[in-house]
Amino acid sequence: MKHFFRTLASVLTATALLCCGCADMGAGKAAQPGAQEGNGGHGDSAGPWRHTDTAMGTVVQMTVYTERQEEAETFFGQAMELLAGLEREEISWRLDTSEVCRANESAGSAQGFPLSGELSALLSDCLELWERSEGAFDVTLGAVTRLWNIDQWAAGEALEDFSPPSEELLAQALEHCGSGRLRLAEEGAAGDGGLRLYMPEGMGLDLGAVGKGLAMEKALALLADRPDVTGAVISLGGSILTYGSKTEGAPWRVGIVDPFDTSDSIGILTLEGQWCISTSGDYERYVEADGVRYHHILDPETGAPAASDVRGVTILMKDGLLCDGLSTACYILGPEKGMDLARQYGAEALFVMADGDIVMSEGMKQCFTEQ
Ligand code: AMP
Ligand code: MG
Repeated sequence: MKHFFRTLASVLTATALLCCGCADMGAGKAAQPGAQEGNGGHGDSAGPWRHTDTAMGTVVQMTVYTERQEEAETFFGQAMELLAGLEREEISWRLDTSEVCRANESAGSAQGFPLSGELSALLSDCLELWERSEGAFDVTLGAVTRLWNIDQWAAGEALEDFSPPSEELLAQALEHCGSGRLRLAEEGAAGDGGLRLYMPEGMGLDLGAVGKGLAMEKALALLADRPDVTGAVISLGGSILTYGSKTEGAPWRVGIVDPFDTSDSIGILTLEGQWCISTSGDYERYVEADGVRYHHILDPETGAPAASDVRGVTILMKDGLLCDGLSTACYILGPEKGMDLARQYGAEALFVMADGDIVMSEGMKQCFTEQ
């Protein structure tokens, strides 16, 4: 396969991956949040059309191939509404309009909480991942992530008055965590295959590790409903969805950020058609205090940032939700156990180690070109 190289100077700050699937996306060309770019003055032609915005606490970059700008704009509007709706109505633990928030409020109740079919399926997948990762991946860490205030952090941004929670507070919060202590039973929300969720008092779901994965799944469904869009790349912070093809038939090219210099990339994945690519790394979201860096991927045993000899993990697979979940799990597990876990799901994995080594699965090697 012929590989195309391109300088991948930073398009986004604080994102794990750069999308370079479209020939003219590069440093300085990305639109500001909320702005909309045309196709570079070529007139209506099949695009690519671009849109950069913010949603789910991250920068969203979309590139679509469709005949007319109007169609692209309609798609961008639908996609942004979809992302806002996902946060507002389903997964935010802060907004009381969301299902997760209401589920968390029900913790401790004998009646449990009737989950929608969608969140039932998501939680079932998360529980399986918890089991298969031997507890490293755990979406019931809400009590702990709240102590750290993780969702208020950005990459490297100085937070005033930050100090890490004490071991005592962490130990108390950990008593309210543990996927083994929640129960899913039949009879959730009427009619859509939902399950009923029972959580002990004080437990809280935090779906931060799979939110962008669910967003990729939903974006994919939206694309499938839009035959006028023949190709797309959607980048949501650390997760990227590729779909269809470019008009000119060239493959998608997705850069993987260099954890040691996030303005650069370690290499490019060359991909055909639909894929999900998720990266988890200690450089994506962190705070520093007294010379110590605290990152956002927590060890469920200690409640503290996972001590790992990995700097970043990239997962490549078709399924968005599992892709996002696996990247988080594999970061904690490291290359040996992580590779094994990825294999169980038929996923490809790439680990950037703290000493700079890159460890890859065989399938990943087939599409990766080092820079
Ligand atoms: P990601 O960036 O996809 O790796 O997800 C990290 C986010 O998932 C964090 O910001 C937390 O909200 C949440 N999280 C942190 N540690 C874990 C863990 N061990 N298992 C599941 N979710 C976690
Ligand atoms: Mg994840």
